[in-house]
Amino acid sequence: MPNKPKRLQTKEYKDNRMRPWYTSSKWQKLRRLYLANHPLCECDDCTKYGLLKTANVVHHKIPHENLYEELFWDENNWQAMNSKCHNRYTMAVEQRVKKVETRKQLV
Ligand SMILES: [Zn+2]
Repeated sequence: MPNKPKRLQTKEYKDNRMRPWYTSSKWQKLRRLYLANHPLCECDDCTKYGLLKTANVVHHKIPHENLYEELFWDENNWQAMNSKCHNRYTMAVEQRVKKVETRKQLV
């Protein structure tokens, strides 16, 4: 995969940007409170099929991309998710982005 190093660099940059928000005690507290109030996964699949999976991740519906702080802290933008559902969801989104990128390269 020749494109990988460049993408990794971008990801690392983003990870550095997000560190202060995700590790802040404010976020830890809000996150814990949110998951206490939303104990079950609220992803599309779990909602659709009535699956009862424990929520342990706070997902941001509109991606903040580690750049938009208002989106990060906006509770209306949060969704309780099971980490497995979250991984699947993130992977699906990344695959969609990859497909678009591939298509762009083909044009
Ligand atoms: Zn789910």
